[in-house]
Amino acid sequence: MNVKKIMIIGTGGTIAGTGNGASALTEYRAGSIGVQELMQAVPTLEGYGPFESIQFSNIDSSEMSPYRWVRLALLVNEVAERDDIGGIVITHGTDTMEETAYFLQLTVHTKKPVVMTGSMRPATALSADGPVNLLQAVQVARSESAKGQGVLVVMNGYIDSAREVAKLHTTDVGTFGNAQLGHMGCVQNGRGYLYYAPCRTHTKDSEFILREEVELPPIGIVNLYAGLDLDVIDFIAQRSKGLIIGGFGHGTLPQSVREVLKKITIPKVRSSRIGNGIVSSNSSDAKEGLIVSDSLSPVKARILLMLALQRERSREDLERIFASY
Ligand code: ASP
Repeated sequence: MNVKKIMIIGTGGTIAGTGNGASALTEYRAGSIGVQELMQAVPTLEGYGPFESIQFSNIDSSEMSPYRWVRLALLVNEVAERDDIGGIVITHGTDTMEETAYFLQLTVHTKKPVVMTGSMRPATALSADGPVNLLQAVQVARSESAKGQGVLVVMNGYIDSAREVAKLHTTDVGTFGNAQLGHMGCVQNGRGYLYYAPCRTHTKDSEFILREEVELPPIGIVNLYAGLDLDVIDFIAQRSKGLIIGGFGHGTLPQSVREVLKKITIPKVRSSRIGNGIVSSNSSDAKEGLIVSDSLSPVKARILLMLALQRERSREDLERIFASY
């Protein structure tokens, strides 16, 4: 029987970064090495082949954008449909990995493993974490247990689900996870061990189908802070088709913000600037036209709203979507 290939898609990031010597851990240029070179730097990788690779981009992931997400999702869908492909690994910068992962979780329609990885230290650094992360991502993509589990993020020996994962530290190699919910699994002795499955709708069952390079509606985020200039909310809302408010604590909005929001008619989602825990609806949300983000952080709530608002939706439909994905 022919062993199916793992497709490795390079997008850039620190994993493909080079610095000025082995001690340069925070000053380096992300996205300067090609995906082929990354693969060559991983001892024993060939044992998990065969492989094919595509250089999708070579950027610092702070340059990611909805335009690139759409193109990447179309590419991953196309690759996943190929009979000779068994799984897909995407190398990506860590700064926006959680956003790209959630976008793909909602728009890639496959049960084949889709695994994202990156690194916190550039390829030239002492104890660079890129090679082991890439090896472990491939090992997970080869694992039977990873099938049908949505988009996974493999970093520092742990496996996380795209919906829940977040970057939690500026420089630590163990930065990825969820502050409260823990990891989905880990990688050991060449394979992925999963202990939990994602409960929200994803990948194969997602209703969000992307057509050829669509332009997604602009969705703005306003994260609150004490003394926010209220004009900022109007400024962002005028440029948006939907708005995410990162409220205080449990999505708390001061009265002054509520008054401004009442006059804004585009769909509005109340999330929390904390980015952890659930924001549940309260008795005034419906009256004020607010939907709650459930446990999605503002950046992830933005992605879901962006995909949902590709067409007009009723408030009930948006509530359903935020309760399902
Ligand atoms: N700035 C880098 C990026 O996101 C950080 C990293 O990859 O760790 O591309």
